[in-house]
Amino acid sequence: MVIVVKTGATQEVVQNLIDKVAELGFTPHPIYGVEKTVVAVIGDKTQEKIEMLESMPGVERIVPILQPYKLAARDVRPEGTEIELGRGVTIGGKRVVMMAGPCAIESADQYLTIGRYVKQAGGAVLRGGIFKPRTSPHDFQGLREDGLPILRQVREELDILLISEVLDPRGVELMYDVVDIFQIGTRNMQNFSLLTECGKADKPVVIKRGMCATLDDLLKAAEYVLVEGNRRVILCERGVRTFETQYRNTLDISAVPALKAMSHLPVIVDPSHAAGRSDIVPALCKAAVAAGADGLLVETHCAPQEALVDGSQAVDAGAFQELMADLKPFAQAAGRTL
Ligand code: PEP
Ligand code: MN
Repeated sequence: MVIVVKTGATQEVVQNLIDKVAELGFTPHPIYGVEKTVVAVIGDKTQEKIEMLESMPGVERIVPILQPYKLAARDVRPEGTEIELGRGVTIGGKRVVMMAGPCAIESADQYLTIGRYVKQAGGAVLRGGIFKPRTSPHDFQGLREDGLPILRQVREELDILLISEVLDPRGVELMYDVVDIFQIGTRNMQNFSLLTECGKADKPVVIKRGMCATLDDLLKAAEYVLVEGNRRVILCERGVRTFETQYRNTLDISAVPALKAMSHLPVIVDPSHAAGRSDIVPALCKAAVAAGADGLLVETHCAPQEALVDGSQAVDAGAFQELMADLKPFAQAAGRTL
């Protein structure tokens, strides 16, 4: 259940409420919004305890959360959650946040070149993996630890936010100082120890939907991060496995409005891993923006034909610049900026 706190309640009143919740044997999860503060309450409830809380000063009302994802549910924050990413960028508000970059970081030169044109075209976040989850152990696994100094250098030199995949719980500490957003990949959506570790970290987390996961599964995965106290969770639709062979996965565009109805968390779309081919990426970006996505995660490479990973789905510099220009009117039509 969620305790909706009266507008204007003092910090002392809120603290008393939190203490009471704990005293009754529940785990309180205060969520401070710009307009409303709520306290999500996890634990088995009795009518008697609910009534006790209802009569506390500062309580506007108590809303039961019937869904299994208690903290991610829309009812916790009907107005939606806007998340600070850093450097003045927020997601979940008016701006559609463009995150773009190579699948894998290959060298400082390659990453700087891509970072420069991504930033110049209006990208807010630069992506790039140093730990790559590959289906075959014989394929390039990323620069791994050797990529850490490159992340640090490019982040400082370009003054841009970075998102990078964290492959295991150990990576959370390893990458903490050099990235702004942790990415949990499709294969790791139900890696519960990784989710928990990211939940303990004070960094936004993008959770990509498992390629065979339902939206319910995705929200329960998000719950693992939220329950540890990390409120900055972003959901990502990146295509699911179907029988179609014309593209790598099938972009489930319905997931965008459906997730937004189910949850207060921001939702982004990765059209690149859905498509597996660069030619249809721009159309999928437009569809995502039209469907209400709060951001995009796009693969781009300065020389896609030479890319060590996922070159076929990477748009080149020119196509990326064109995409940014073409997306603007779509964002505008959706009442957003880019
Ligand atoms: C990636 O973003 O490069 C990636 C591996 O994505 P996914 O986990 O969606 O396959
Ligand atoms: Mn990739």
